[in-house]
Amino acid sequence: MKIRVLGSGTSQGVPVVGCTCPVCLSADSRDKRSRCSLYIKGKDGEQAVIDTGPEFRLQALQAGISSLDAVLLTHAHADHIHGLDDIRPLSKETAIPIYGNKKTLREFKERFSYIFKRTQQGGGKPRIKPVLAAGPFRIGGLCFVPIPVKHGVLDILGWMGFEYHRKNETKFVYITDCTRIGRDSLSRITEGGPPELCIIGALRVRPHKTHFNFEEALSAAAETGARRIFLTHICHEHSHREIESYCAGFAEAGKITAKTGPAWDGMELDL
Ligand SMILES: [Zn+2]
Ligand SMILES: [Zn+2]
Ligand SMILES: [Zn+2]
Repeated sequence: MKIRVLGSGTSQGVPVVGCTCPVCLSADSRDKRSRCSLYIKGKDGEQAVIDTGPEFRLQALQAGISSLDAVLLTHAHADHIHGLDDIRPLSKETAIPIYGNKKTLREFKERFSYIFKRTQQGGGKPRIKPVLAAGPFRIGGLCFVPIPVKHGVLDILGWMGFEYHRKNETKFVYITDCTRIGRDSLSRITEGGPPELCIIGALRVRPHKTHFNFEEALSAAAETGARRIFLTHICHEHSHREIESYCAGFAEAGKITAKTGPAWDGMELDL
């Protein structure tokens, strides 16, 4: 299974429009953070993305995505779904299933009402099939498990994935826009063994009402027992290098044993 971080930025992306802070003006390509999304490619060519943010088209072109078997949604905030129309060329042959929880699918249908109504004259529409993610399901040889988490007061989904025949330590878990992973969800993640990889949303050092800060995200990810932890959904308050140092300091203080660091747009891993 191949994993690619399509975007690692928070809702406004980095650089932020109109901002002249050092991170927004940075020449380091890893400080360019487009909106948060993950691409997964299975051994038999199965392809899925978690969320389709506003830069989905550009991300898909860069990643060379040529077909898509599923879209898994975390929640219906603009920064996670507003690029969905750009799956159009990938949905010509068959409707693409869109997985989400009840609330996400309801809000999704409101935001993309033109897809479901007959009122639009001309112009294309993506062909999609909303599917309630009530439990684990398979896309070819890939298995996905919805992981309920809290995003402030909102109930949203994280996702766990693995090759059906290579469960346990080859699992990855992707959780973004989170303030709490409950006990049940943690048990679901660790059942049968810890995941190899945890990619987790972490906005900045300062606290935030609806997102983990770096410390909270690293501590929550450490509880999963993951061997490798990457931070995503990062804002413009810290450069990639500063976050690397922050993570190194966290490890030196004995707060974490996993390999940790910030994710970046285009980061690829083989599991
Ligand atoms: Zn978000
Ligand atoms: Zn800035
Ligand atoms: Zn959100």
